[in-house]
Amino acid sequence: MKARSLTKAYDSEPPVEVLRGVNLDVERGERVAIVGPSGAGKSTLLNILGLLDEPSGGSLEILGSATHTASPARRDKLRSELLGFVFQDAHVLGHRTVAENIELKLAIRGVPRRQRFGLIAAILARVGLNHRSRSLGRLLSGGEKQRLAIARALVTTPGVLLADEPTGNLDDSNAGTVLELFDEAAKRGVAVLVITHDSRIADWADSSYLLIDGVLSTRK
Ligand code: ADP
Ligand code: ADP
Repeated sequence: MKARSLTKAYDSEPPVEVLRGVNLDVERGERVAIVGPSGAGKSTLLNILGLLDEPSGGSLEILGSATHTASPARRDKLRSELLGFVFQDAHVLGHRTVAENIELKLAIRGVPRRQRFGLIAAILARVGLNHRSRSLGRLLSGGEKQRLAIARALVTTPGVLLADEPTGNLDDSNAGTVLELFDEAAKRGVAVLVITHDSRIADWADSSYLLIDGVLSTRK
């Protein structure tokens, strides 16, 4: 993933410049963390990198595909084929079971029905949710929803994994498991980008950056 001179401005009164010329590279197999205070522009940046929002200026390439010049249909295709999301509100379907939440993702990716059960059981075991497989999404705790979101993102292998505070609701043991899963994904060649307040994640990452007032700088 290669971002160059990304800017985002809102024509509010007064006008707000949320991102000011962000340059960022995340290679396959690299684990990158971005830390910064509330209001720094982290969510805005993650939404732009996830093709959920458009920048005001600059360019963004994802695994060799230019996205800033792509049509909306092409962007949708890139998003669903290349990107995996672990977002704070988790986007868990409340009226579906845990297993169904993951199966839907496999169905969208065209994984044959007979292969789905084994993949679902394996990833749920990894995140410690196998006993919750038949529970409705809305009955999960915040931490369980977060682990479900991680299971869903990693049941297939995305090109780029975008995570917003993935360990925010988790105890140390579950947070450790999540980082292990991210390590394994990186070893399979996934580019892993995590936005966090947690300095331990920044220490875990291969590269970390600070975002302050829309300006990104290298931390390590
Ligand atoms: P979170 O950081 O929990 O995801 P939001 O992204 O909803 O929260 O909002 C982050 C910040 O952006 C907050 O300070 C919020 O007030 C501000 N914000 C969100 N939407 C707007 C808007 N349309 N106009 C002005 N400020 C906004
Ligand atoms: P962070 O995730 O680092 O907390 P955000 O990306 O949510 O930061 O927000 C960065 C800044 O952008 C905030 O100052 C917020 O008020 C502003 N902002 C976000 N959305 C809007 C919007 N739609 N209109 C105006 N300002 C916005």
